[in-house]
Amino acid sequence: MSKLYIFLRNIKQLFMDTFKTPKLGETLAAYVLRVRKELKLTQLELANAAAINGRSVGKIERGLTTKLNPKTLQGLAIGLGIPIEYLEALIKGEEAKPILGVRFCPKCWNPGSNPDQMWSNLKAKYCYLCGTQLRASCAYCGEPILSFRYKFCAVCGKPYKLKIEKSL
Ligand SMILES: [Zn+2]
Ligand SMILES: [Zn+2]
Repeated sequence: MSKLYIFLRNIKQLFMDTFKTPKLGETLAAYVLRVRKELKLTQLELANAAAINGRSVGKIERGLTTKLNPKTLQGLAIGLGIPIEYLEALIKGEEAKPILGVRFCPKCWNPGSNPDQMWSNLKAKYCYLCGTQLRASCAYCGEPILSFRYKFCAVCGKPYKLKIEKSL
C-alpha cells in the first residue's frame, strides 16, 4: 500500500468516524479503550464526560465490568459520542449495526423507539403519515442522530422530535 493511499484512507476514516464502529469480535473492554484513545481522552476525562466514577472506566477497560447499569451505559455512550446500541451489542457479543443514516419523521417518531420501517425505504423522502420531510440528523444543528434512545441532540441540546404546530 502506498503512503498516499494510507493517508487518504486515514482522512476518510477521520471524517466518517469509522473508528467508532465496533470491530468484529471486539470486546467491550477493548472497544472502550480504543475509542477513548482515539478521542485522546484520559480515563478521568471520559469519566467526567460520562458522569460516572473515574474508577469505573478503568474497570470496564480491564474487562472487570462486563455488565453496565443504564446510567453508566448512557453516560459512556454520550462521553464517547457513540450510539448506546453499540455498547449493548458489545455486551451481548453481537455485531453492532451502524444506525447512522437511518431516517425518521421528526414529527411522528417517538424517541426511545425504533423508527418506522417505511421511513427507511430508499425512495422515501417524506413521511407517509404526515408528509414531513424525513431526516437522518438533528433538525437544528444537522449532527447525525446518535441513538434512537436519545430524546435530545447531544451536540445542541434541542429535542429530536419537533413540536407539532397547531394550526388555527
Ligand atoms: Zn410523520
Ligand atoms: Zn443538534
